[in-house]
Amino acid sequence: MWNQSPDNDISSDLSTLVDDLTHLDLQKSSLCSTITSPTTSVASSAEVDEATTLLNSISSYFSVKPTKYGGRGCFANTDLAQDTIVHECSMPLSSTIARPFRKEVCGSCFEFLHGKTLKFKLMSRKNKQNNSTSASASDCSLALYFCSQPCMDKFIALDIDDLYRESLLNVESLFIKGLNQCQYDLERKKQQEEAETEAELKLENELKQAKDIELFISQKWQEAEINCQLQLSKLKPKQRKNFNNLIYLIPKINENEYMEIKYIIGILFQMYKCDNCENNKLSSVSLSSLELQIFQLLQSSDVEKIRKYPYLLYSYTNKIYKFLKISTLEKVQSYIIPSIIRSIIGKKLTNAYGIWSIDNEPDGNKELFGYSLYSSASFFNHSCNPNLINIEKGAKTIFKLLKNIKKNEELCINYSDSINDGLEIRQKDLKEWFFDCLCERCVEEMNLKNAKK
Ligand SMILES: [Zn+2]
Ligand SMILES: [Zn+2]
Repeated sequence: MWNQSPDNDISSDLSTLVDDLTHLDLQKSSLCSTITSPTTSVASSAEVDEATTLLNSISSYFSVKPTKYGGRGCFANTDLAQDTIVHECSMPLSSTIARPFRKEVCGSCFEFLHGKTLKFKLMSRKNKQNNSTSASASDCSLALYFCSQPCMDKFIALDIDDLYRESLLNVESLFIKGLNQCQYDLERKKQQEEAETEAELKLENELKQAKDIELFISQKWQEAEINCQLQLSKLKPKQRKNFNNLIYLIPKINENEYMEIKYIIGILFQMYKCDNCENNKLSSVSLSSLELQIFQLLQSSDVEKIRKYPYLLYSYTNKIYKFLKISTLEKVQSYIIPSIIRSIIGKKLTNAYGIWSIDNEPDGNKELFGYSLYSSASFFNHSCNPNLINIEKGAKTIFKLLKNIKKNEELCINYSDSINDGLEIRQKDLKEWFFDCLCERCVEEMNLKNAKK
């Protein structure tokens, strides 16, 4: 069934809507691309060869190969000594900072100065130019924060035509506008919230009853696309250029969605950069283009995640997607189609690295500042007895061997916070990554447990 959003009065069914769209001559290609789910595409042998070459270019110390238990893993090319640094990533392909920490964690190096507000602020160039009439206190706080001038300069140097800067500030501005809008109109806020909860529950129920979950999810993404295009098609091109006309269409997002949207924008920006800077000799472009190519090879886990947390489907399609579709700057709009956004979200779920306040302290009061994605570091599997550790140094992350290892041995890091806990807690924790840990330690402990029975 068509999933009605609170603000629209469309009552026709999906097939009529598709007909409508054909008449409106909207981007049909983007609708078609959603039909094949990213997980079901079949790779040709040339593509497989290309992928192998790409994966083997990650490190001379290891090769990325299929594992016995499914998926890929990293295997040592030769015997390697403890403390060898087998891989290094100078910066993530994309990263995102949780909203409460946006002024305290450096946007370039993730430095945190005991909760102090960072001094280096990067404001929007747009605001300075058009002297916005609604200049309020909240506009002054519209900035990206850095710990030092070099960190701010680094961000500017990596940007293109202020695209990344303006996109991130746009999310912040619309998030604030969404909050304010509700403050002034409590009745509307209440109505919206009720309608939203109802729609969310309805979708969850439909999902639970769906015979083919994968197909159902693909259909909901398609519907979200059609819904957005219909809403946008009601506006004249001039109206679309002014965000104030769009504010009522933009869904109110929560802080998790805000964080996710900023992560997605980071990847979209990299895509734009690679597509538009082919002749650019900048090393940062070629580096991120390699990471972006590897990113395409990562597995997406959105179906598993939605199966476990059904409410996420509503969040992805009706909030995150809609927010991006309606609010994103023109240059990246062509990337905002269901197949791309779905794959960006799905690949993050098991591949992102947390950005923490204190690193590697087993029982310290760690706080999660955000997360980052390093594609080339996404093939290390988990072990409860890891032989590899990732050490974060600012935005850079290095992978160092904890012990001597033999040729062909798999290189594994620890994913979870419960490495010091017993088998059951560890196994439960690791379910977040959608696998049952069968590392040597787990198998040994399982055997011991069974023997006791
Ligand atoms: Zn910094
Ligand atoms: Zn284990």
